[in-house]
Amino acid sequence: MQPTSSPASGNGASSTTSVEVLIVGAGFSGLGMAIKLLDAGITSFLVIEKADEIGGTWYFNRYPGCACDIPAHLYSFSFERNPEWSRMYVGREEIQQYLKSCVQRYGLGPYIRLNTALCQAVWDEKDALWRITTADGQNIVAQVLVSAVGGLHVPKYPDIPGMENFTGPAFHSTAWDSSVTLQGKRVAVIGTGASAIQFVPQIAPETDKLYLFQRTPPWIVPKADFEIPERWRRRFRRFPALGWLFRTGLFWFFDLRVFGFLRKGWLRTRAAKMAIEHLEAQVPDSDLRRLLTPNYEFGCKRVLISGDYYPTLMRPNVEVVPDNITEIRAESIVTADGAERPVDVLIYGTGFRATEPLIGVRIVGRNGVQISDAWKERISAFLGITVNGFPNFFILLGPNTGLGHNSVVLMSEAQIGYAIDCVKLMRRRGRRVMEVKPATQERFVEELRRRLDGTVWQAGGCRSWYKDAKTGENPVIWPGSVTAYRRRTRGVSAADYELT
Ligand SMILES: Cc1cc2nc3c(=O)[nH]c(=O)nc-3n(C[C@H](O)[C@H](O)[C@H](O)COP(=O)(O)OP(=O)(O)OC[C@H]3O[C@@H](n4cnc5c(N)ncnc54)[C@H](O)[C@@H]3O)c2cc1C
Repeated sequence: MQPTSSPASGNGASSTTSVEVLIVGAGFSGLGMAIKLLDAGITSFLVIEKADEIGGTWYFNRYPGCACDIPAHLYSFSFERNPEWSRMYVGREEIQQYLKSCVQRYGLGPYIRLNTALCQAVWDEKDALWRITTADGQNIVAQVLVSAVGGLHVPKYPDIPGMENFTGPAFHSTAWDSSVTLQGKRVAVIGTGASAIQFVPQIAPETDKLYLFQRTPPWIVPKADFEIPERWRRRFRRFPALGWLFRTGLFWFFDLRVFGFLRKGWLRTRAAKMAIEHLEAQVPDSDLRRLLTPNYEFGCKRVLISGDYYPTLMRPNVEVVPDNITEIRAESIVTADGAERPVDVLIYGTGFRATEPLIGVRIVGRNGVQISDAWKERISAFLGITVNGFPNFFILLGPNTGLGHNSVVLMSEAQIGYAIDCVKLMRRRGRRVMEVKPATQERFVEELRRRLDGTVWQAGGCRSWYKDAKTGENPVIWPGSVTAYRRRTRGVSAADYELT
């Protein structure tokens, strides 16, 4: 399908922009998709992004200490290796800068519309295309719709009585309020997940008192973080093959770890031992150590990396509170043991609504069925990408494609390649519509169930954000290696789809 107006030309409420591909979201996934479309010679596309800047995760999360927890040399596009990474685990600014430089280098600017939130996308059966409405009233029609709205985007808040009564500043880590000074304040942090363990060491020294409310202690292993010396960078710059080798080595190191998650064995035992030794080496106080020792299997919840979290918890102004919070009052927090702690600032480090993909966007497929209804029984997509009843719709980092052991950018890249292969297949066969067959999707769902069974994510004895609290289903994790996923997504089998 040829565009009827150039991406840059549709600019307002009354005009309708027509493109071959509409991408929703300008984080790693959306930008990667845009770059690969250009590579494939497909120029009739548009990226809409609700924020006023690109970057997704790395634009939104501005809490102190925000950084990747997979080495930057691996947590980046394979086709855009960056010899300049300053450290093994770089901060958010550097990743955001990297994504901006990708936009510039690939000339994506004219294809991106910022401040443009997808409100709804409705499949038009008659014209065989998606009709999209944005929050500011723009109309867009697209033959293909790509969701790149991210899996860790919509913040999750706990359900604690009295939350609304708190009178001091209260915010979620993904919406950090830097206008709030923490100097000399009594600060409560709820949650001990991946974000909290990054910002707690940063803010604790400023605060008068920091209460860390912990439901379950995470498993934490040492962080092999260091500044990458200039001489390494020079070499990466001069010999790109060296950068490739370094990345490849990292890839295999991380990808092979998956076997420790998939089944019990020496790999998991060894990793757990390493984490316990790390705890023992950093926390001499046996009472505190007991509080910080997980009572579930290593890997069941996301394994965290940190060198400064445990030492921070030993500061005299930090208290780890393991008791359940029963009430939040105007200026205090009450726990199950009846204790009431006065609090000036409340920070939610409670993560994201990861088990509810596409929450907040209204996607209406064939026969007026909304994706949220199609997913009422079970959230599923073939390969995490395509859903029966939603033709020409591709999800990046969709259901069951999250990872606990490696960089998700690798998954996103595999999905981008697959989606583009689908577009090419339609073009090649002169078809306008492709939809995954119900049997294909069902077979895949059954396979996932089987493969998840017995993995640490399902059987590790924890309550994690990977699992739906009500159903116990896991719509987040890919139960395999990235290598296996790449193999599955390499090339599209026309037999899996109805092409019309
Ligand atoms: C703090 C933090 C650290 C992380 N660290 C790592 C790590 O080290 N390694 C790793 O593998 N993963 C990590 N992740 C996971 C991370 O989300 C992914 O790695 C990656 O950034 C996902 O990219 P994305 O483009 O798919 O989604 P996102 O980065 O979430 O981008 C989605 C974009 O879609 C936009 N959007 C959403 N809804 C709409 C709408 N209705 N209309 C228009 N635009 C919309 C959003 O504004 C956003 O810009 C981390 C996540 C967080 C939160």
